[in-house]
Amino acid sequence: MRVGVIGISGRMGTMLSQIVSENDALVGGVSSRTTPDEWEDIAKNSDVLIDFSVPEVALKAAEVACRHKIPLVSGTTNFSEDDFARFQKYSSDIQLLHSNNFSVCVHLMATLLKKCEKVLQDFDFSITELHHCRKKDAPSGTALFLAKQMDKSAQIVSIRSGDICGDHVCDFIGENEMLTISHRAFNRNIFAVGALNCARWLCGKNHGFYSMSDYLKEKMDCPT
Ligand code: NAD
Repeated sequence: MRVGVIGISGRMGTMLSQIVSENDALVGGVSSRTTPDEWEDIAKNSDVLIDFSVPEVALKAAEVACRHKIPLVSGTTNFSEDDFARFQKYSSDIQLLHSNNFSVCVHLMATLLKKCEKVLQDFDFSITELHHCRKKDAPSGTALFLAKQMDKSAQIVSIRSGDICGDHVCDFIGENEMLTISHRAFNRNIFAVGALNCARWLCGKNHGFYSMSDYLKEKMDCPT
């Protein structure tokens, strides 16, 4: 698979490029210095674009992907509601998959949370998320994704410190006991591999908007 990486000079783009070079073909990548002609060349020579950047660049990637009729996988977070709605509209012309988190374990955690919520109806629910101090958004896209899975409201606490790749600690707190379900990413490898697996799967699909849950349901029979 020939892959164009959007956000190639970033933390995720660097990890993704390394993994793509080992298993697939790295066409090239887009950074803030990429010219319009270079954008076109990368898209023209790619079977799929994978984006880890910022919302305005993800929107541009969707527009370019549509023009070149190639699928786009995006892990970019921090979209405004309006921008995300605009982004999703591109899926009428291409296969478009977005996920705030490409870790399989995080999606399993979401499934567990939904199950626990059904039983622990009187418990309060909170999410504490920790990330490196250069992360632009707070709360993290993953914390927002986990909170969205729940009917009850979540208190979210964000901590930005050191070089933490991503910790999410979910607490159900009752009067006499507390249940904690947590996930820790040791490195960015899981996100890059997850995005690449989704890209491989997406290439065989019809045009439309997909999430990682769609991939997990079909590929791994994962009860998301
Ligand atoms: P980063 O700041 O290290 O990298 C951002 C990239 O965007 C850089 O390559 C930069 O050159 C590029 N960029 C910024 N403005 C640009 C512009 N105007 N034109 C072209 N390129 C531009 O950030 P990161 O840690 O790599 O994370 C990138 C995104 O991925 C963030 O939204 C982050 O939250 C998200 N993320 C998602 C997952 C997931 O599993 N979905 C995992 C980790 C990070």
